[in-house]
Amino acid sequence: MSYFSTRGNACVTASQAILAGIAADGGLYVPAMFPPFSMKDIEDMASLSYEERAVKVLSTYLEDYTHAEIVESVQAAYGDGHFNDPAVAPLKRLDANTHVLELFHGPTLAFKDMALQLLPQLMTRAARKNGENREIAILVATSGDTGKAALEGFRNVPGTSCTVFYPLDGVSEVQQLQMTTTDGNNTHVIAVRGNFDDAQTGVKQLFGSEDFIGSMDGMGRVLSSANSINFGRLVPQIVYYFSAYADLIGSGAITPGETVNFVVPTGNFGDILAGHYARNMGLPIEKLICASNRNDVLTDFFKTGTYDVRRMFFKTMSPSMDILVSSNLERLLYESADRDGSLVSVWMKQLKESGSYSIGDQRREWMNSVFAAGSADDIETAAEIRDVFSQHEYLMDPHTAVASRVLRDYRLKTGDEKTTVIVSTASPYKFAPDVAAAIQGKSAVRNLDAFACSEILQSISGLPVPPQVEKLKTLPVKHDQVCDKDTQSMADAVKKAFA
Ligand SMILES: *Cc1c(COP(=O)(O)O)cnc(C)c1O
Repeated sequence: MSYFSTRGNACVTASQAILAGIAADGGLYVPAMFPPFSMKDIEDMASLSYEERAVKVLSTYLEDYTHAEIVESVQAAYGDGHFNDPAVAPLKRLDANTHVLELFHGPTLAFKDMALQLLPQLMTRAARKNGENREIAILVATSGDTGKAALEGFRNVPGTSCTVFYPLDGVSEVQQLQMTTTDGNNTHVIAVRGNFDDAQTGVKQLFGSEDFIGSMDGMGRVLSSANSINFGRLVPQIVYYFSAYADLIGSGAITPGETVNFVVPTGNFGDILAGHYARNMGLPIEKLICASNRNDVLTDFFKTGTYDVRRMFFKTMSPSMDILVSSNLERLLYESADRDGSLVSVWMKQLKESGSYSIGDQRREWMNSVFAAGSADDIETAAEIRDVFSQHEYLMDPHTAVASRVLRDYRLKTGDEKTTVIVSTASPYKFAPDVAAAIQGKSAVRNLDAFACSEILQSISGLPVPPQVEKLKTLPVKHDQVCDKDTQSMADAVKKAFA
């Protein structure tokens, strides 16, 4: 299988796409076709483990990897007790037609682990295949979840290192401790005196700096990205849509072939796009419902066909969805343009130069035939956390609650009561203060830290505090480097970390 760029004519193998991350023309790599799965293939998955399901899906995309390489990679990522739940991505029933797909049982308690546990495996094998002998130096800018997931994924992986920049005072208490207590012989964590945009801009400039690339090369290092635009992050996410559907068949909740909906809390559009790819492969998904928080640029896009970033940016209680430029949408645009890379290039140029582009009525109608979209603000999200807990005794994190609320609105508006899976992207314990406040009221948590709030959640729900949170209380802080937000300071900080 070949991979094309969304903006032009590049044509590479799977391992080359994963190693490069982004195409030379600035586009994203997309598969030449979507490997078809029959209903028989999908039914057969019901009796397989998550690892076996993953091997089936990945093998169809990663054609220049051997079967043994895929099996070893999957085992290293999802086997050996790396996930708190033996099912890896368990499906929980809320009521007769509503289920929750829990993607937060990995080492960092967020769905990013589903991809970032596997990516280092795929990347180191890609390096070997393509004769890359330098150390792969991963640089990441994070608003919270990606940084820790990348650190955990690449920690102690030979031939790689992982350097994370996070905004000083811009991440939650648990998120900061998760990162600064990371061990491993190849991990570096640097706080930037600035906000997430400053960190992200700096990292982008480092990737584009000949000087910096040259000095890294001089140290025997080549830069790479673990950002969600890498196809190696997208492909592991396709697996859990198949897995959820197979589990619905297995439990008798649906009959094989019955269509279902998924509602996905969305930021960079990577998670939900993987669901769309699963549908293109034959998985019977009717609607993918795109759920946004108050940063509802995608909701407006599906409504109007115009993507417009000229708007206020809001900080919300679902920070991993606080995003205005949703990078993976470009892959959907490419399909809507009948794979015309020049048209996508024009839209992306307009976005960069004027802050907006329009796709026209026909394409908008196509998108609305396969997607629905809605948003929920923080007040609605908190109410949803409280309502779901009182109705089902189920704890939702704020990101998942956005999806749950958007589903509620969608059902009211459309009357569509089809079986629906809520994709749950983080453990409630990752955001314990907001979750506890939503259920017990703000005054109950005033002046309490994340650990005390976790205790409250445990006592009202009976759901044990995950060991990953518990141990943060005592783990020593290993990283305390801080740098200024200009690119030179960030470059110097990387060199100092590597020295
Ligand atoms: C990253 C993230 C999201 C958004 O996923 P995208 O693939 O960027 O759309 C949602 N929830 C959580 C908890 C996340 O970490």
